[in-house]
Amino acid sequence: MSVNPDTEAARWAALSVPLTKWYSQNRRVLPWRDSPTPYETWISEIMLQQTRVEAVKAYYTRFLAELPDISALAGVDEERLMKLWEGLGYYSRARNLRKAAQQLLERHNGALPADYSTLLKLSGIGPYTAGAIASIAFGLPVPAVDGNVLRVFARLQNDEADIALPETKERVNRLLSQVLCGLNSPGDFNQAIMELGAVVCVPNGPPRCECCPVASFCAGRKAGTMLQLPVKSAKKPRRVEPMTVLLLIRDGRFALRQRKKSGLLAGLWELPNLPGHLEGASLTEAVRSLGLEPLRIEPLCPAKHVFTHVEWHMRGYRVTIEEEGGASLRWMGKAGLAECALPSAFHYYLPHIREISP
Ligand code: SF4
Repeated sequence: MSVNPDTEAARWAALSVPLTKWYSQNRRVLPWRDSPTPYETWISEIMLQQTRVEAVKAYYTRFLAELPDISALAGVDEERLMKLWEGLGYYSRARNLRKAAQQLLERHNGALPADYSTLLKLSGIGPYTAGAIASIAFGLPVPAVDGNVLRVFARLQNDEADIALPETKERVNRLLSQVLCGLNSPGDFNQAIMELGAVVCVPNGPPRCECCPVASFCAGRKAGTMLQLPVKSAKKPRRVEPMTVLLLIRDGRFALRQRKKSGLLAGLWELPNLPGHLEGASLTEAVRSLGLEPLRIEPLCPAKHVFTHVEWHMRGYRVTIEEEGGASLRWMGKAGLAECALPSAFHYYLPHIREISP
């Protein structure tokens, strides 16, 4: 189907009026929406990547209280930064935030630049985030196209293009760039589409067309295809990694070790673990390979943790050992958890840690 881009842009410009009005009257009250500084917009946008709004709220407030500006972020110690991010996942986001803060001090007098291309050069800032900061913090007419926007676009346009393809995203970007140039408040428009996608034109389950402010513009609704849209090609299935997790204990203390500096959960703390589901003699040998002599081994409940591309299927064991040791291990009481960032994958074992520690 050939579509005249100017006609489409005019249609979107028309629907921007009820859309932004609806947004101004109905938007959710969120901590980063109350007259945010560019720094606050940046932090919230990074935290919200791949993460639910509800999960982000408390992290955002705590992070801002401790690191209220770019120079505080640039100077924070890595261990403390990881602790502030503990449980939020995708930890490279936090490291990139700090790196970008240092770049801002070095190259931009400690301020976020009001320019899309310059924002893109900062660590951890891709096209979506640069667009969000440029439009929300600086009022620039730049789109911010995320999954919510792509879904709303596909339904409003009754467009069957695969939204996983870069060319689809590029087409949406071009259209919205044209629309935004004619608007007074590009940031509000971008946030309004995202909000519509988050609370009305929702991803899981049927869209709530009966309360949609742009229903009269919606080609998908008119054609009755909104439930089949957007079209998105299937992702590769996740790799399953079986794993044996050891809760090593001795006199109310337990052991953590630090993960290697690259790859999944790089540099964070973990309960010692081994690939595969070990039991019997192989499990005893595995404990000995850490330089420890097991006195008693008791199974814990199995647990599963899902990352974007990998699933860990964990079998845990509580292992009482003869004496503390193991060159790579750090032994501590439960107070040690206040300093070491332990990723969510290991939080299944926290109740057991709390049980053994005085
Ligand atoms: Fe989505 Fe329905 Fe609104 Fe169309 S009318 S944009 S399908 S909520």
